[in-house]
This record gives sequence, structure tokens and C-alpha cells, in this order.
Amino acid sequence: MSNTEPKKLVLFGATGSIGSSTLRVLRAHKDKLKLVGVASQSRHKELAAICREFDVRHAVLGSESAYTLARKASNFPVGTQLSCGEAELTELATLAEADIVLIAVVGAAGLRPALAAIEAGKDIALANKELLVLGGAYVIEAAKRKGVRLLPTDSEHNAIFQCLQGYPSEQVDKLILTSSGGQFRNTPFKDLAHVTPDMATQHPNWSMGPKITVDSATMANKGLELIEAHWLFGLEPDRLEVVIHPQSIAHSFVQFIDGSILAQLCPPDMTFAIQHCLLFPDRAHSVTPSTNFRKAFSLDFTPPDFAKYPCLQLAYDALRAGNAVPAIFNAANEVAVERFLAKEIRYLEIPQIIEHCITNIVSPSCPSLDQLFQIDVEARYLAQRHNP
Ligand code: NAD
Ligand code: MG
Repeated sequence: MSNTEPKKLVLFGATGSIGSSTLRVLRAHKDKLKLVGVASQSRHKELAAICREFDVRHAVLGSESAYTLARKASNFPVGTQLSCGEAELTELATLAEADIVLIAVVGAAGLRPALAAIEAGKDIALANKELLVLGGAYVIEAAKRKGVRLLPTDSEHNAIFQCLQGYPSEQVDKLILTSSGGQFRNTPFKDLAHVTPDMATQHPNWSMGPKITVDSATMANKGLELIEAHWLFGLEPDRLEVVIHPQSIAHSFVQFIDGSILAQLCPPDMTFAIQHCLLFPDRAHSVTPSTNFRKAFSLDFTPPDFAKYPCLQLAYDALRAGNAVPAIFNAANEVAVERFLAKEIRYLEIPQIIEHCITNIVSPSCPSLDQLFQIDVEARYLAQRHNP
């Protein structure tokens, strides 16, 4: 690819929160990035509007009913080839003209398109963490074998990736992931019994999709991110730490063996990490202004209280147990959050459902990819039916 030609991007999850931040980056860097394919689950009107604005040739809807509505409305531009279904999603991930694929769908559904894109030799920008928790071993192996880049787009992992540039892994002592502590950081544990979906889908620092916002409150999100960091950077659980940092400005730390600690700082806005991945290894002006040191502000750090955040403890335990246990953790959490948002279970029952699934599902050792997909289904089935 010549330096003047824009990088061609396929965006999975175009209508979501990461999707819309990505579109902001694309608008600011039209000379460097070109959107060639988009996918979403439903929201066909938004997807059609994206295709019109960015002149996108390939679009896929996950949901068949959304596809039928889109066909009726015929609101996609004539130049856009619209399709629907799982096979079509996988095909989009391998689009011949694409240089890079950004996976920003929510949940383990991101795993198949990610693997297909890697096998097709595409670089991957990875916002989705659940797919690594389910199939991390296979994603890392495939990326190494195919020689493609896995660019971490989750803000903490992007920060670590930036801090690690130029340092060999033997010089790294540990990674410290920052967490805002979520919306109930100052709420006493006993009051968490009354948390409603409305309360749990409001975040003080970040504007994100509903699932990850609930995960931030329970700190299941940080748990998933520990497992994500394990796969991306190859460190064992006792060299991965979490610290509560309410301002969400320092996005994680790398501690080296000589005791020096590097951090990456910027405001809590995903356009910074997304742009870094999409333009890597180049840099360009940011979409929004960065942190301003002409105004006084403080940064605070405190260790997490594991008793208050049982999901974080469960994730650490799952990572230590290995095999298919992280996959069970993830699937059970996805279903528990859906059920909480549907008002079927209470907030404090989310960790109870995860624990029940981990305790009652037998994890095979060294599971194959097929076994992992099977365990994912089994855990979802149990999480759907268990009533604590
Ligand atoms: P969201 O709910 O706002 O959007 C999800 C998108 O994925 C939507 O476009 C939806 O249509 C699409 N989608 C869902 N299931 C799909 C399927 N089966 N097939 C095709 N498309 C599907 O979610 P989000 O907050 O943007 O998060 C996306 C991912 O990025 C998650 O894994 C999340 O953990 C991660 N992430 C998000 C943020 C953030 O700031 N929002 C930050 C870091 C990491
Ligand atoms: Mg994150």
C-alpha cells in the first residue's frame, strides 16, 4: 500500500458506541482512512445512513427481521450491497479490499468474524474483549501464524500497548489496569441491592453501550480486561493488577523490572484509542482536545475492595483456573446482564449466576475451539435458567 492511499476499514458494530466514535475518527481523517464495509445487528436506518455518508459498498445486518425491514424501506444507497446472516458476517470480515477490521460488536459473537479476518490476513483492531475471553488462545495463535497485527482498542490495553513500544517482554514486571470503580464506587455494598437497570446504565466518565456500562458497575468489565490483558501481553495473573482511578485519565500502567512505571494519559474518550489503532504506527491530530495541564486537577488511585466487587474476584479466579473457565465466566455474565437489564434478576444476582455456572459446568482441560463454543452455549443455557 502506498503512503498516499487511505487504509481500507471494515467496521463490525458500526451503530454502537465504539462504532459512532470510530465514525468521528473517520470524518476527521478522510485522507487516511476509507470505510469499505460495515455490520450491525439491527438498527438498519442508522446503518443505511452510515452507508450514504461514507459511500460504503458492503453492509451486513445480523438480524433477519432488520434485513426484511431494510429491504422494504429500501433506504440503502444503490451502490451498497446489503446482506444478512452469520455466513455473510464472516465473509465481510475477509473482504478482499480491506486492510484492517475493527471488531466492535458486543459479546462473544465477535469471535468468528475476528478469526475469519485473521485467517484472511487482515490486521485487527480489537475493541471487543469478550471474544478474547472465550477464544484468546486461538486468536493469539492464529494472529502469530498469519503475521497480522492485533491492535488493542480497549483503552487500558491500548495504553499498555503504547507504553510497551520498544521494550522487550523480559523487561516488564507487571501491568496495572486502571478502573473508574464504576457508578457505585461510593455506594455502600448493602445499598447495591436496590440498583435498577436505569441506575446501572449511567456512567460518570464514559459514554458506552449498556452491557459494558453494567459491567463497569460490577467490575466484571475489569475482570474481562484482566483476561484480555493475559492474552494480549502474555502475562500470568499474579503479574496483572487493578487499581481504582476515579478520573479515568491514566488509562493503565506498565511497571518495568527496574521499578519504573509508564502510563498513557488522555481524556476518557474512545476516539483516542480508536485513532491510535487505525493509524498505527502513524499519529495524527486528535478528534477532541487532550488533557489540559493549565487547569489544576488531581489523579487518585486506591486498591479495589474485592468483597464489594465479587465479579472481579470471580474473573481473577477464572483466569487462574484457565481452560474453559473464563469462557463460562463470560457467557454467564453476558446472560446475567441481559436478564438484569430485562428486570428478570436483581443486580446482586449477577455474580451469583456467574458463580453457579462456574461451579456446575465441568471445564475440559485444553479445550478445542469447538469445545469452547459448546461450553459457551452450555453456560448460556444454565445462566438463563438459574434463579438465585
Ligand atoms: P454497543 O451495544 O453500543 O454496540 C454494539 C454494536 O454491535 C451495535 O452496532 C450492534 O448492532 C452490534 N452487534 C451486536 N451483536 C452483533 C452481532 N451478533 N452481529 C453483528 N453486529 C452485532 O456496544 P459498545 O459499547 O460499542 O461495545 C462494543 C464492544 O467494545 C464491547 O465488546 C465492549 O466491551 C467494547 N468496548 C467498548 C467501549 C466503549 O466505550 N463503548 C470501550 C472499550 C471496549
Ligand atoms: Mg476498557
